[in-house]
Amino acid sequence: MEKINTFDIMDDLQNDTLNKKQKINILGLSQKAISQYFQKKGIKEKNVNMRVKQVWSWIYSHGKISFDDMTNLSKDFRFFLNENFNLERPIIVKKQVSLDGTRKYLFKTNKIGEFETVFIPEEDRGTVCLSSQIGCTLNCSFCHTGTQSLVRNLETFEIVGQVLAIKDDLMDWDGKNKHNTKRTISNIVMMGMGEPLYNFDNVKDGIDIIMNNEGLAISRRRITLSTSGVLPNIHRVALEIGCLLAISLHGTTDSVRDLLVPINKKWNIAELMLSLKKYPKLSNSERITFEYVMLSGVNDSLEDAKRLVKLIQGIPSKVNLIPFNPWPGSNYGPSNPEIIEKFAAYLRKAGYSSPVRKPRGDDILAACGQLKSDSVKPKKANALLQI
Ligand code: SAH
Ligand code: SF4
Repeated sequence: MEKINTFDIMDDLQNDTLNKKQKINILGLSQKAISQYFQKKGIKEKNVNMRVKQVWSWIYSHGKISFDDMTNLSKDFRFFLNENFNLERPIIVKKQVSLDGTRKYLFKTNKIGEFETVFIPEEDRGTVCLSSQIGCTLNCSFCHTGTQSLVRNLETFEIVGQVLAIKDDLMDWDGKNKHNTKRTISNIVMMGMGEPLYNFDNVKDGIDIIMNNEGLAISRRRITLSTSGVLPNIHRVALEIGCLLAISLHGTTDSVRDLLVPINKKWNIAELMLSLKKYPKLSNSERITFEYVMLSGVNDSLEDAKRLVKLIQGIPSKVNLIPFNPWPGSNYGPSNPEIIEKFAAYLRKAGYSSPVRKPRGDDILAACGQLKSDSVKPKKANALLQI
């Protein structure tokens, strides 16, 4: 058996089981981690691989929420699974459906805090916008999530679980949806609450399962991770995760970007661009997406468009122009559509694809940057009580 680095996890898992008599949530565990656990628990080595693959298939291809429904497993093995594991998905606390069909979910698990996830149906695709944290440590001045202090990082089972719970809600299992047509969820964007590169390991492990052909089997080219610019982890997206990358740029001078995306004070535009020019495996078929929120009178002039083109020169890329989505208490206004069109036209003329994003779900505060939950980080004594 290949040597792997999961002993620590397994020890933790076992301690959990032995000491607290808690069952382990099998969602979000890699095949390697499950194999190790099975082996330690005495399942014959020659059967381990097959067993793991059977369980994964029931979970991720068929969406089963109970080990008892995994009908090709022996009774003894199902008993063993029931004794040691659970399959608990995030629970839907609230669901809102927008006039345009966008769905926003408020989830909770057995851990502290609540988080939001969005499903955006389009003609040719269905996109789930996943959260990586509850709240955010950064406070971009135009973002609703940024007004919520970080409560905690989401665990791997919660990242994968957002997709599973939405697939349940949409009855999107076995390769087709409830209308018996092809599956509804085709794309994933890591653009919900939080900064995914500040929760790198859990986000990586979650996306690994989402991408895995024996997991949720969503192609890496249909998964985009968006970051505000956490420089030390950006190349790791290509090297260790392999999905597509989006960068929240939003400003073309350091003075404006400092105000909009304060992480710019740590890693400024020049450093960011230098790093992106060296981004591994960059090509015309796998371009970087720059996100650029259009804020009236702040960053939407033709001068900005000109500077933007200069900045991204030499980087295979496209620019998504996002009209600002207002939220209660926000201090900005969306740019006028004609101004946005002029800005887009300049970028197009310079050779960059620059779609203007249509706000989706803004009537239920489900559009980009509108997500937030009421959760706050509890004081230590409370935290223990609530776990
Ligand atoms: N933290 C990551 C991903 C989550 S935000 C990041 O910042 O990239 C997803 C995208 O929505 C980012 O590009 C973000 O800048 C943008 N955004 C935030 N607030 C917005 C708002 N009010 N209107 C439009 N876009 C917004
Ligand atoms: Fe956090 Fe992204 Fe919002 Fe900035 S835009 S506060 S990084 S979620």
